[in-house]
Amino acid sequence: MKIGAPKEIFEGENRVAMTPDSALQLQKLGHACVIEAGAGTKAGFSDAAYAAAGVEVLPTAAAVFAAADVLVKVRGPEEAEARLLREGQTLISFFWPAQNETLLKLVAERRATVVAMDMVPRISRAQKMDALSSMANIAGYRAVIEAGNNFGRFFTGQVTAAGKVPPAKVLIVGAGVAGLAAIGTSTSLGAITYAFDVRPEVAEQIESMGAEFVFLDFEDAQDGAATGGYAAPSSPEFREKQLAKFRELAPEVDIVITTALIPGRPAPKLWTEDMVRMMKPGSVVVDLAAERGGNCDLTVPDDKIVTENGVTIVGYTDFPSRMAAQSSTLYSNNIRHMLTDLTPKKDGVINHNMEDDVIRGATVAHQGAVTFPPPPPKVA
Ligand code: NAD
Repeated sequence: MKIGAPKEIFEGENRVAMTPDSALQLQKLGHACVIEAGAGTKAGFSDAAYAAAGVEVLPTAAAVFAAADVLVKVRGPEEAEARLLREGQTLISFFWPAQNETLLKLVAERRATVVAMDMVPRISRAQKMDALSSMANIAGYRAVIEAGNNFGRFFTGQVTAAGKVPPAKVLIVGAGVAGLAAIGTSTSLGAITYAFDVRPEVAEQIESMGAEFVFLDFEDAQDGAATGGYAAPSSPEFREKQLAKFRELAPEVDIVITTALIPGRPAPKLWTEDMVRMMKPGSVVVDLAAERGGNCDLTVPDDKIVTENGVTIVGYTDFPSRMAAQSSTLYSNNIRHMLTDLTPKKDGVINHNMEDDVIRGATVAHQGAVTFPPPPPKVA
């Protein structure tokens, strides 16, 4: 089969779904690869590097859509791209089917198959294809780097001839994949790091990474924890306790990185306006939940603001794209692993096995039908 990567057309998107390295791996599965000219440029991969890896460089997206049997992309298709899909073609990309019903119907009508990378079941066997995690890991790391870039001080404490420098104090709210990556980065830079999550089981992970778990004295320790490792909305009583704790911490901490999300809901508001007012001038809030409405009351998605009391609030929604070389490498590996499972005999033939839990879970359109939502997975 021919695997093709068109250039991402979403404004500001720097990533690419195929790298020269991933193309070499795809060829080992018996596939041929094509790419649109310039598709990898913003991620640091030149057309010449693709050509040297045996990839055919085509001049336009239309040429890639026409030539390829399988299209690989980062962002879900814009309507114009979806209209280029045809019967028998497969698209592998992020898709967010619950938020894109019309687009989903359109691709199903065109009888294309869509594998949504955001729908890969989060089971052990599928970790190598878990693009949500690979991108969240990068976002968590980059959030700390952005915080440092906007914080005019060291993370680590120092005693120098010119004076003593106190270590920065960093609070990470939410210790999922992105939060844990942020904790690791913050502690490795030498900051005193605190972290909080509604799921008490993460306390051990937080502490094993050198941060201090912010303990909340509450009768029902499981208040905000749902099944499957995700969070549920907290009770009003729990939320009040949590906010009271954050108000205690607000004047102390220099940097707050918020990553709290609840599946299927807007991000919970956890860093309120009065907490921002209590922070010292020069402090920084990086809100990784900005795309889902933000954890901080004052976040402006896709932007950075400075409040009257000199607190910078970063609401960027493109953290992985800001590290496009790294994120393209990891994302293209996630895609390559998906294609490995879709090519079981390594003979260049796609076998779209809907009996396979992972393939079934991620497939949102197939043979003219919408196949989202999937049935619950058989394997845990
Ligand atoms: P997420 O992005 O949905 O949420 C981020 C974090 O915010 C979560 O830890 C959540 O508990 C926390 N949160 C929600 N409300 C909060 C509040 N009010 N205050 C503080 N924190 C709050 O999470 P994620 O990174 O997608 O990870 C979710 C789960 O999935 C974790 O248990 C993770 O270990 C698990 N996971 C499993 C696999 C796998 O097995 N393959 C892969 C990735 C993640």
